[in-house]
Amino acid sequence: MTMKAPSPAVRIAALRKAFGPVVAVAGVDLSIDPGETLALLGPSGCGKTTLLRAIAGLERPDAGTVEIGGRVVDASGVFVPPERRRVGMVFQDIALFPHLSVAENVGYGIGRERREVREARVAELLELVGLADAARVRPHELSGGMQQRVALARALAPRPDVLLLDEPFANLDLSLRTQLRGELRRVLDVTGATALFVTHDQAEALTLADRVAVMRRGRIDQVGPPERIYAEPETPFVATFVGVANLLPGTVVGGEARTALGRVRIRPPIADGHALVVVRPEHADLVPDDAGAEGVIGRGQRGTVVGRRFAGSELLFEVTLDGDGPRLWVEAGPHGRRMGLGDRVRVALRVDETVAFRPRSAA
Ligand code: ATP
Repeated sequence: MTMKAPSPAVRIAALRKAFGPVVAVAGVDLSIDPGETLALLGPSGCGKTTLLRAIAGLERPDAGTVEIGGRVVDASGVFVPPERRRVGMVFQDIALFPHLSVAENVGYGIGRERREVREARVAELLELVGLADAARVRPHELSGGMQQRVALARALAPRPDVLLLDEPFANLDLSLRTQLRGELRRVLDVTGATALFVTHDQAEALTLADRVAVMRRGRIDQVGPPERIYAEPETPFVATFVGVANLLPGTVVGGEARTALGRVRIRPPIADGHALVVVRPEHADLVPDDAGAEGVIGRGQRGTVVGRRFAGSELLFEVTLDGDGPRLWVEAGPHGRRMGLGDRVRVALRVDETVAFRPRSAA
């Protein structure tokens, strides 16, 4: 007897959607496992929302198939309307019913249940999102973050097969966004829901998702766990879109690249020839060129600081290496406080292995 693998919660194959000459989704294959949270991450206009809307049934694809919970809901000759797809949706614009109370909003999608069942489910969900005390108030009396919690509870109430979230926190300020991110993670863990969420915010994708799908120009470049997306990007776009990455020109010979910063092993190996070598800011040490007895003197390539970027928890310096060398961003390290624009510095690789690409895949 052969064991049948459980169906993915969502399976998309060869999905395509164009709006006139604009190809929004250019042939996407994607599967989401039951209970998994998948982030669709990409720049504005890359087709994320169109893909999500096609799964929801709000957009008819030109080609391809959509399956939800093992059932084909969109294919040539098949179209299951949105309300029969068992999906829950949370959008950036919080579309609560203004004339209904919070409890009535949450219970809206389960109106056909017996009253006691419905009330128990609404109470359970309001408790889950921390709004048990707000059941009777109207949405306009709540803050934006609270309204988005109501929207989440409403989407979860009918126990959908999959929850679709489109930039759910985009309109909220940063600290509230971070807080709600944590709450959403907890709610997804407690309910075991399968979720697909769209974001252009890499921090949101990396912290919330089990797997991240990085999308560009209607296609998915790479799908994988957040750590792998960061450590082993498969395209130059993924390397530079997720985190900061310098792409140093180099020459690969026998699995080792020669770059302006010296030699580094390339893993996974690529063919000999010109390459773009990924050097993250934390892959290199940066010291003043006069570091004297502080240990690192003598090591590293000389260069000049030409830029500075402060991002709260980290300080990066942009350095041009001498002799028309490349420019790169490097973490400031312990000497950062006493470095500034125009300073002479040294940069040395601190990793002996990284990822590289053939230049033609840089397109
Ligand atoms: P954003 O983060 O800005 O919402 P996105 O990655 O979600 O971007 P989509 O909204 O899916 O991208 O749009 C992909 C492309 O399709 C864009 O070029 C957009 O202008 C176009 N597009 C989307 N919907 C329509 C529509 N209804 N009519 C015409 N063009 C559309």
